[in-house]
Amino acid sequence: MTAPERPALDTYRDDPLLGDVVVSHDALEARVGELGEQIAADYRDRPPLMVGVLKGAFMFMADLSRAVGLPVECDFMAVSSYGSATKTSGVVRIVKDLDADLTGRHVLLVEDIVDSGLTLSYVRRNLVARNPASLEVCALLVKEGLQRADPDLRYVGFRIPPVFVVGYGLDVAERYRNLPEIRVYEGPVG
Ligand code: 5GP
Repeated sequence: MTAPERPALDTYRDDPLLGDVVVSHDALEARVGELGEQIAADYRDRPPLMVGVLKGAFMFMADLSRAVGLPVECDFMAVSSYGSATKTSGVVRIVKDLDADLTGRHVLLVEDIVDSGLTLSYVRRNLVARNPASLEVCALLVKEGLQRADPDLRYVGFRIPPVFVVGYGLDVAERYRNLPEIRVYEGPVG
């Protein structure tokens, strides 16, 4: 018997709480490759410090950092937002801060998903205050039409409908992060 190519796909195959595939594993792989090439071209002369926002961006960050053919540095911060599981209040707390000093650095903030844009707006303001030479954002997913203010995203993976999704780092109560594709979650959320 040969091992399944993607065991996690099999694990979740019959999960009744998972709905349609929003972004397939193949589409993720292809788009991450494209983003990597674009970032490599833009940052050719100034390899960026990539800052991943935990936990949701961990898988995207792992793949994207390898797709960027430059000697990048990686750092992580973790934020928690007050509010329900599905709605951010805009009040964000830094749970784990960066190790790196951002002064004079070219920072590329790597986000999993932008919904209202409130989390991103907080994190961006917080990082700008640390005097980086530049700060751009790469978001894997952006939900259509929900941002209150233009979130000014330099790189976007996919624009998706305003549905609650899981997989490829995104969770519900810590589950589904290792699902290798993005799917609609049809169960109760918070
Ligand atoms: P925003 O502040 O843009 O409204 O929300 C951003 C954060 O809310 C994301 O970093 C993520 O943690 C969470 N979030 C927003 N939409 C979804 C979603 O569809 N699925 C999951 N799992 N988390 C989401």
